[in-house]
Amino acid sequence: MGHSVALAYEFFSWRAVLDILLISAGLFFLYRTLLRLGTWKIMAGILLALVMFILANALNLRGIEWIYQNLSHVAVLGLIVIFQPELRKVLEKAVSVPPHRPRDHDTQLQSMIAESLIKLAQERCGAILVFPGKEPITDKISGGYQLNAMPSVPLILSIFDPNSPGHDGAVIIEGSKLTQFGVRLPMSQSTRLSEEFGTRHHAAMGLVEQTDSLALVVSEERGRVSIFTNAEMRPARDTEDITKAIVEHQQEMGFFRRDNAPKIRKRTLVQIAASFIIAVVFWSTLIVSQREVVERVLPVNIDYTSPAEDLVLVGDKATEIKLHLTGPKSDIDNLAINPPSVKIDLSRMAKGSQTIIITSENMRLPKGVTLLDTAPQQLKLTLAAVVEKTVAITPQIIGKLPGNLKIKKITVTPETVLVTTPVSRDERASDEVLTTPIYLESISTDSKLFCKVIARPSIQPVAKRWPDVEVFIELKQ
Ligand code: ATP
Ligand code: MG
Repeated sequence: MGHSVALAYEFFSWRAVLDILLISAGLFFLYRTLLRLGTWKIMAGILLALVMFILANALNLRGIEWIYQNLSHVAVLGLIVIFQPELRKVLEKAVSVPPHRPRDHDTQLQSMIAESLIKLAQERCGAILVFPGKEPITDKISGGYQLNAMPSVPLILSIFDPNSPGHDGAVIIEGSKLTQFGVRLPMSQSTRLSEEFGTRHHAAMGLVEQTDSLALVVSEERGRVSIFTNAEMRPARDTEDITKAIVEHQQEMGFFRRDNAPKIRKRTLVQIAASFIIAVVFWSTLIVSQREVVERVLPVNIDYTSPAEDLVLVGDKATEIKLHLTGPKSDIDNLAINPPSVKIDLSRMAKGSQTIIITSENMRLPKGVTLLDTAPQQLKLTLAAVVEKTVAITPQIIGKLPGNLKIKKITVTPETVLVTTPVSRDERASDEVLTTPIYLESISTDSKLFCKVIARPSIQPVAKRWPDVEVFIELKQ
């Protein structure tokens, strides 16, 4: 439950919106580019990648496996992009409204054009007819001659007559006018069309890949008519099939519509919608996968706050503890980089021994993260009451003097130090304050030595710092 609320929250942040919009834009332009490249190269690439992955898995190649695991989201994205044409068709079907059916006399022009194509095919004259859609084609085509004529069978047949100088190239039909002939179309760069087709077919494919136009091609080699639209080619069966293709294309482009109000191109709109939907799906799966719940054991430091004035912590204290945590992977990963510290507040503890159970109150954890367990589970701490007292500093003499030298007198300066020490029963043993060791073997004359102080950790100097100690050893012969 908590997760879905957090997810919804993340969905409506401006970051998420920007994220999704950028992914959508990327997808949209990637798709447009891919349309030009052709899907086969990409499919081959994916297949190769898959084979490599299986191989890497079989050979247990860690590096490649790691790369694949981390790129798997991107790979899924790629697959969706590749199958976007299919997705687009589904969407288009869902969006499109049943078009207004043209009456028979409306389609005379179209069936006349279809008839002339069949005639060209029978006579084995190569031809290309282009019916532009809503996207402009002027920047895709070149060359050609202007004409602004009503199409007719004799006109079309004469244009594509191999003996006529204008037969090379394509004819453009806009609305009900034949506007240009001898036009050069952009060649397809994709591998969609097999190599058995020549430049004419590739030129027609090039145009329908880059625009929403319809192209009809008559093959002089085969004597067949092919219909090119939406980056696809299909053979035409007969006159009706061709007529239908032209009529449907013109319907889609609003040729038969009474109101010719300018509209955003449907194809582009569908592409944008599809890109957006894919981006949302991709984004949410990514977020969900990042919310994947994991468990981890993290070693962290323990911070003790100082105890009340008259108390002191005695005995060994633990400095590290292991936390067994569970929560969203991203949060746990962050904690591993930036470990929380466990805080133990000694300021409100009374004197004596106590067991402290470590709970989530002792640390700051992100919301979704739960503390399952700690090792150790509890800490035994002893606070002792302290008293101030003056303690003598005892020189720590080690070994014997060389030869028959004897010690006459040892003077320690300062002689005493004011300390706080825990109240305990065995006072004499515990309150010892010593100097650092003094080795007698190396002493042969009266010597002045400088020492530091050594004491149990529970004994602390009132002055916060231990004094430096001067030890004067006087000898006698
Ligand atoms: P067919 O089946 O008719 O032989 P094809 O696909 O094998 O067609 P080619 O044999 O190479 O193609 O046909 C060459 C003709 O295609 C040229 O004479 C010219 O009319 C036409 N053509 C070639 N390139 C273009 C182009 N870029 N734009 C328009 N027409 C072109
Ligand atoms: Mg040919």
